[in-house]
Amino acid sequence: MSSIFPTYARFDVEIESATGMKITDTSGKTYLDFTSGIGVCNLGHRHPHVQTQIESQLNKYWHTSNLYYNPIQERVAKALTEKSSGDLVFFANSGAEANEAAIKLARKVTGKEKVITFNQSFHGRTFATMAATGQDKVREGFGPMLEKFAYATYNDIESVKQLIDSDTAAIMFESIQGEGGVIPANQHFIDELVELAKKHEVLIIIDEIQTGIGRTGKGFGYEHYSLDPDIITVAKGLGNGIPIGAMIAKEKYKESFGPGSHGSTFGGNPIAMAAAEAVIEKVFNQTFLKEVEAKGDYLTTQLTEELKDIQIVKEIRGKGLMIGIECNKEVGTYVKELINQGVLILSAGTHVLRLLPPLIVTYEEIDKVVELIKKALSE
Ligand code: PLP
Repeated sequence: MSSIFPTYARFDVEIESATGMKITDTSGKTYLDFTSGIGVCNLGHRHPHVQTQIESQLNKYWHTSNLYYNPIQERVAKALTEKSSGDLVFFANSGAEANEAAIKLARKVTGKEKVITFNQSFHGRTFATMAATGQDKVREGFGPMLEKFAYATYNDIESVKQLIDSDTAAIMFESIQGEGGVIPANQHFIDELVELAKKHEVLIIIDEIQTGIGRTGKGFGYEHYSLDPDIITVAKGLGNGIPIGAMIAKEKYKESFGPGSHGSTFGGNPIAMAAAEAVIEKVFNQTFLKEVEAKGDYLTTQLTEELKDIQIVKEIRGKGLMIGIECNKEVGTYVKELINQGVLILSAGTHVLRLLPPLIVTYEEIDKVVELIKKALSE
């Protein structure tokens, strides 16, 4: 019997090791990883540059607390602000923690309380981020939620207009809803949202936890839109497998997060910072990002072409290397079949197959996986 709480319905795969695009199980079987550990290992497993930087930091110091200056934190924060539209960073250890920081900051800055999020969104599993998540199943059984969260319909500005009021502190959303089914925001919706937020003096929090760090072919997913968010949250891909979270916000909010207002023992941990510094050096590079975009376009084109005659496929959508295949049937059996065939792939909700391969995926690997998906969905 396992001594671990059964909070995850696991697949029958026991991991032994992982390098680049490949995962090996304890029986020696290898898998092509099209999950990146749920959008985390964007540079592939144990990327040599990330590993070298981590090893180098391991030989310096591991932890000293946030009571002292930490040069590597300063460098990573500076890099994040240079690569994004934000100016100041708070470091945390996960996506949920980054979002917690964003919600706290938005309330403190505005002195208002309501936060508008969206149906089918996902923002985490802590009390505030559960409340922010627009999915009943995530909240069930946990008693009263943190108050003043309201859920609008994604890509429907009228639904936001109905909720926004003088007590609204922020509108929080993903540039592509990930767990909700790989649903991109449309430009017109974002334009109207920006106008509305401005009119009501409401902050825009963009949750880039799944879409950030090159996943969509841009540094951050919001760069696909004309959007200048007040607060950006990142996690997952920033550490390429080492736990990390970060909230990036405008300088004008500095006073609201002064000494003692928020904190985290491990936030900004030097080992995580070493990983993040290496990741930023590799990912935020125009040649690399262009290649992600090209491979994403190729994957979408190949899937569209190869799956066009398969009845159960309803839609193929996404941006860069974040792609959903919506089916008119539950997809759980296809995920299992693909695992049998040596491909690790995700679902989003019950009806969408979700592809989040490491951004280093090759065209040959894309061809191979498209073929295997076609075979699985044809059966
Ligand atoms: N926000 C988004 C968009 C996510 O996809 C996730 C995780 O899947 C989270 C927040 C929560 O991140 P974490 O699991 O690191 O707390």
